[in-house]
Amino acid sequence: MKIKRRKTKKIRVGDIFIGGEAPVTVQTMVKVDAHDIKAVVKQIKEQEEAGGDITRMNVLDMESVKNFGAIKKQIKIPIVADIHFNYKWAIEAVKQGVDKLRINPGNIGSVDRVKAIVKVCKERRVPIRIGVNAGSLEKDLLEKHGGHPTAEGLVESASRHIKILEDLDFDQTVVSIKSSDVRLMMAGYRLFSKKYDYPVHLGVTESGPPRKGTVKSSIGIGGLLEEGIGDTIRVSLAGGSREEIRVGREILKSLGLMKGPVLIACPTCSRTQFEMIPLVKRVEKYVDKLDAEIKVAVMGCVVNGPGEAREADVGIAGGRGAGALFVKGKVIKPVKEENMFEELVKMIDKIVEERRKK
Ligand code: SF4
Repeated sequence: MKIKRRKTKKIRVGDIFIGGEAPVTVQTMVKVDAHDIKAVVKQIKEQEEAGGDITRMNVLDMESVKNFGAIKKQIKIPIVADIHFNYKWAIEAVKQGVDKLRINPGNIGSVDRVKAIVKVCKERRVPIRIGVNAGSLEKDLLEKHGGHPTAEGLVESASRHIKILEDLDFDQTVVSIKSSDVRLMMAGYRLFSKKYDYPVHLGVTESGPPRKGTVKSSIGIGGLLEEGIGDTIRVSLAGGSREEIRVGREILKSLGLMKGPVLIACPTCSRTQFEMIPLVKRVEKYVDKLDAEIKVAVMGCVVNGPGEAREADVGIAGGRGAGALFVKGKVIKPVKEENMFEELVKMIDKIVEERRKK
């Protein structure tokens, strides 16, 4: 059952698109010092390898803004400059060749300053993301909406920023409405999506360390995507950027919004008679690197495993000292425990190769 995605405006970011019919993209951020070009490039290359579609970098001074040009030359994925308050940095970042700006026009100081930013963005076809955050909602909006952030308040804030850009005849805009409160963030995006057709960047902000953050993001981001809302996503974790990408991609794959390898593994139970978890970890590492659509299963027993993982293309089910290799739920051959990984990988490669030839 395919998700019916909300129709949004198509915005170009470098050589990819956000919104319209474009596939949902996965974003992350640079988490090393923006002054250290070598470290930034190294990290972005790792993000590219992990499957990140877009990266973003925060800047603290003009010196690091001026690094965007050198960084841009050494990376493949689009880079976004995240800038608060300083319009000169925003203009310089665009001149350095960034693919998108993340700024809030209402925080830039004056319409003339925003005008100057919009002028260079138009000239260089650079879009802008407006990022509304529950933690920094304008004081008057907080007061108006009962003293705390609400979906209505968040959307009203987004509307203000949008209006500033629209008055300057600029509509290459992506919007995010983030909160660390999952339900508030969901309500904000839902309300926004009823009013506007600008594409949205989904995220649960400050979602926490990997386990907590993965759960919150899966509910918030995944729930909205399932409703058809969301054009690009970022899983914010107090952890590495590659982990953010991995979780983001898994959310998309779980919803059928991204093609790629899928690993099924049973939770194990008292029937399991071999060391299954280390095997799952090895298989996961292997499968994650595949650029192919294949469902692989690792199951804890031969009795139920092949049947329970019927929808997998290929799988291994273990037993005491030995197991069975199965394809589409049917056992193909017995396998010794020490050969399980190699036999499974051989069969995975065979299936991938056959599909490639077709
Ligand atoms: Fe238990 Fe077998 Fe099911 Fe795994 S596949 S949970 S070992 S019954």
